[in-house]
Parts: sequence; C-alpha cells; structure tokens
Amino acid sequence: MQQRDFLYQGKAKTIYRSDVPGTLIVRFRDDITAFDGEKKDVLTMKGRYNAEVSAFFFRMLEENGIRTHFLGMIDPDTMAVKELAMIPIEVIVRNVAAGSIVRRYPFTEGAPLDPPVIVIDYKDDTRHDPMLNDDLILALGLATREELDRIKAMALTINEILRAHLAERGITLVDFKLEFGRGDAEICLGDEISMDSMRLWDAETGQSMDKDVYRFDKGDVVAEYSRVAQRIIT
Ligand code: AMP
Repeated sequence: MQQRDFLYQGKAKTIYRSDVPGTLIVRFRDDITAFDGEKKDVLTMKGRYNAEVSAFFFRMLEENGIRTHFLGMIDPDTMAVKELAMIPIEVIVRNVAAGSIVRRYPFTEGAPLDPPVIVIDYKDDTRHDPMLNDDLILALGLATREELDRIKAMALTINEILRAHLAERGITLVDFKLEFGRGDAEICLGDEISMDSMRLWDAETGQSMDKDVYRFDKGDVVAEYSRVAQRIIT
C-alpha cells in the first residue's frame, strides 16, 4: 500500500490517503500534548508504543465482535485503517473517579464507579470539548437516537473486554476515551486506544501508567509507556 495525499494532522497522529480507495494511513507521531496544547514535547518512541497498544486492542476487539477501523500495521508506528465518517464526539467510559469529573463534581479521586459512567464531550478544541447530553447530541444532529444507543452499548462492551484483559495483568482501567465513525453500514470504532487516551493505574501501587505521567511530571514517560505496552501485549 502506498501513501498518498496528506489529509489531516491531529495533536499526535497524521492521516494520509492511500492508493487503495476507502483505506487511510495513520501515523502515530512522537508529539505529546496536554492541557489543551499548553504543554507539549516530542518523546522518541512514544508514537510506536501507542501504535502497538492500539493495534493490539483493535485486534482483540475485532476478535470479540466489535467493528473497528483497523486493517493492519504498515510499520511499527503506522497503521492502515478503513475510512470512516467520524462523529465529532469523545466517548469517555469511567470505572474509577479521576481527572475532570473529580475537578468538576463532588467525586473522591479513586472512588469506584459501578456501573461505569459514560461521559460524552463535543470534540471541538476551540470550545474546550464541552460535555454533551443526549438531547444536545440529537439537537446538534451529531447522531441519531439509534446510533447513540449503539455507541453507548459498544462503549460498555469495549470497557468490559479491556477491563478484563488489563485486570489479568494487574492494571486498573480507570477511564478511557473512544471515538466512533460511520463505516459502510455500521458504526465502527475509530481513532486509537493507547496510553494517551486511557488512565491506567497499577492495581497494587496505584501508580499512573499513562499520559498522567506526562501531564503531572510523574516520571520518565517513554520508559513508562514501554513498560506498560509490554504488560498489555504479553
Ligand atoms: P478527563 O476528562 O480529562 O478526566 O479524561 C478522561 C479520560 O479520557 C482520560 O483517560 C483521558 O486521557 C481521556 N481523554 C479525554 N479527552 C481526551 C482527548 N482529547 N484525547 C485523548 N484522550 C482524552
């Protein structure tokens, strides 16, 4: 497969067309940002670890009946994906209270959320990704009722699959963010599932093993990503 025109550059990934119609190429870059882009760095190998973990989870989800955009790896930081019409919402599943819901609501950091809480944000940096609710999603025409129900059901199923896999490896899946798009006929999981988009805590020590290490200067980010990637994929 050959890389063609540049299509889009996000904060940590670049998307290109390919010579195969309906297939895009996603390159995971070493750029890392936090706090709406206020903090940014380039960390060698970071892209590769995120690509590796994303590919691993996409394969695992496909084996469990979840449709994703993943087609295969082209090289260690580059994947081929099915082109989707992306829906501009960020679907966050939370099993443990942490991050923005602790800042915004009276939850105690580390409190279990059972059943898991789904929070959906509008993907728009200029508006700082404001939180949506079902009525707003329908009124904005972002998704139909049926699509929204499907997205939430898929998010909860994905949560169960990831949570079980990580728990077996001594990792608590605190929360994570998903993005969905419309494929040929069906809603598919797009984007990535990586240390940049999950909150992972060591089940024994409670230590962060994700982008919080970068956000809050908790240690060597690349070394942590490398360690957690190994734990996840083996
Ligand atoms: P927060 O709302 O900041 O507590 O984030 C909840 C979870 O979603 C964390 O695992 C974040 O890493 C992830 N997340 C939220 N927004 C984004 C984003 N724009 N890009 C990647 N991950 C995100």
